[in-house]
Amino acid sequence: MLLKIVQAGDPALRTRARELSTDELRSPETQLLIELMRETMRDAPGVGLAAPQVGVNLRIAVIEDKSDYLRDLGEEEIALRERKPIPFHVIVNPTIEMADDVVEFPEGCLSVTGFTAVVARARSVRVHCLNHAGEPQEIRAHGWYARILQHEIDHMNGVLYVDRMYPQTFMTLDNFKRTWKDVSAQEIRRRLSEASHPVE
Ligand code: ZN
Repeated sequence: MLLKIVQAGDPALRTRARELSTDELRSPETQLLIELMRETMRDAPGVGLAAPQVGVNLRIAVIEDKSDYLRDLGEEEIALRERKPIPFHVIVNPTIEMADDVVEFPEGCLSVTGFTAVVARARSVRVHCLNHAGEPQEIRAHGWYARILQHEIDHMNGVLYVDRMYPQTFMTLDNFKRTWKDVSAQEIRRRLSEASHPVE
C-alpha cells in the first residue's frame, strides 16, 4: 500500500509536526506508518520523505539514497555533490546543528512535483535523533546526505525548499534537463538573476 504525497498548498506541509514518545514510536501503528513511508518513498522514487508529506503531523522521516539512483548520474556530478549511497534509516524527533561551510545545488521535493531550484545548504551537519526502534543516534553527515537531512528536518518545521531557494532559479525539471543540467549552481544563479529586472 502506498500513501498519498501531498503537494505544496496543503496545510499539512506548513504545520510544525509534533514529537513522539518512545512508546508511541514503538507502537504497531507507527511502525506500520514507517513501513508505508518507506514503500512510498521508494515508489516515488525519492531519497527522503517526511511524515508531514503524507499528511501525518509527526517528527518522523525516512531516508535512503540507493546506488541505483547514482547509476544515471555523471561521475563529476556525483563527486561535486559529494553523494554516496545511504542505507535506509529513520530519523525521529531530530535536532540539527549546521556547520558554517555552505554549498549551492539544485534541489527538488516530492511535494513540489516537476520543479527544481538552487538552494544553499550547510555542507556538514550533526543530527541527534531516535532511530525506528527508539534508540538515540548521533549522525554526522557530509555532502548530499547532509542536504537530505536538512531538507527532511525542514519539513518537520513546516518549511519547504522554496522558502530557502534563490527565487530566480526556480524552474521546471524539463527546463533544468534541457538547459541547465551541466551548468554549475553558481552559473545558473548568475545567468538567471542577470536576466531578471523586476520593477522597483
Ligand atoms: Zn521535500
